[in-house]
Amino acid sequence: MPGGQEGQRCARLTIDLGAIKRNHRRLSAAAAPAACGVVLKANAYGLGLREVARSLQDQAACFFVAHPREGQALRAVLPQADIFVLHGCTRAEAPVMARHGLVPVLNTLQQVREWQAFCQTAGERFKAAIQYDTGMTRFGLQPAQLQENVLKELNLVLQMSHLACADVPAHPGNRRQRELFVAMAQNFPGVRRSLSATSGIFLGKDYLFELVRPGAGLYGLAPNAETTQVLEPVLSLEAPVLQVLDTVAGTQAGYGLEWEAQKPGRLATAGIGYADGFFRSLAGQGRLWHGTTPLPIAGRVSMDSVMVDITSLPAGALHEGSWVSVLGSQQDPDALGAAAGTSGYEVLTSLGTRFTRHYIQS
Ligand SMILES: *Cc1c(COP(=O)(O)O)cnc(C)c1O
Repeated sequence: MPGGQEGQRCARLTIDLGAIKRNHRRLSAAAAPAACGVVLKANAYGLGLREVARSLQDQAACFFVAHPREGQALRAVLPQADIFVLHGCTRAEAPVMARHGLVPVLNTLQQVREWQAFCQTAGERFKAAIQYDTGMTRFGLQPAQLQENVLKELNLVLQMSHLACADVPAHPGNRRQRELFVAMAQNFPGVRRSLSATSGIFLGKDYLFELVRPGAGLYGLAPNAETTQVLEPVLSLEAPVLQVLDTVAGTQAGYGLEWEAQKPGRLATAGIGYADGFFRSLAGQGRLWHGTTPLPIAGRVSMDSVMVDITSLPAGALHEGSWVSVLGSQQDPDALGAAAGTSGYEVLTSLGTRFTRHYIQS
């Protein structure tokens, strides 16, 4: 158990930076000879931008964030790193981008023109990346837009696109996107190419190009079966037991009194709720764990707490001050996400701000 915890009654999150480093090494090995960057958007998927960035600074080829502000925050941690900003930038954001050495991923012709105009005014050809829309229809230039002359003026260091269905290896969209990407990238021979995030790395050599951009896999998420084999979990989340209550047949519990005991037993109230990212949709689906024993959720999830049925445990196994497991060896973020009708990605990025956080290096 992490030290310094006595008396704390908020949920505690333990993040293993050693495991994140090992996951990066495994992804790098799977992607070789392509270089392996790191995606740190959304506070490193909720796990902590600063801590994750520092632990990967010696092994990541480069870093990706979504917003210019995230880029600035990352620059403060890593003065030397190559940092790409996936959402590109507006003319107003350009000076800050340049000052901090952040490279925009330009997604639209307007962004391209504004960046180019800024570079001209500044008298310096700051680096830029471009993204192609190869079929996801989310971000990027269309094939017909590649003839614009302004593109030739960019100091282009990366061309990229993003796969919509990489988590489904047999999906025909993967091959279609790859073929279009290859064709579009021929407009800028010699400029480094990147197509794949975590799942794409496992689609085969054809999908690696010169650089890959995993996020999920570093953090122990497994978007498809192939990744599960290779990667290890990085976090555990425990909630404190705040109260234990005896029930009799007919005892009702929680908002709406939707749960009702069928026989005498016990409930435990755990200190984690939907304000902490423990989704309301887990009612009736989710469980917490005591060792290897599942503890079904009883009734609705509250803002700060949730009740679980602990009748199957020996009396006294849990008491005020005990801990129950939310995420750990019995339940990973993908499993909790599935129970909540969402993904492990959303579980991680919803992790609450009220947890005590512990970083370890196993
Ligand atoms: C989020 C993101 C990634 C990382 O995806 P994972 O599935 O988490 O590995 C890579 N590239 C782009 C453009 C992204 O938006």
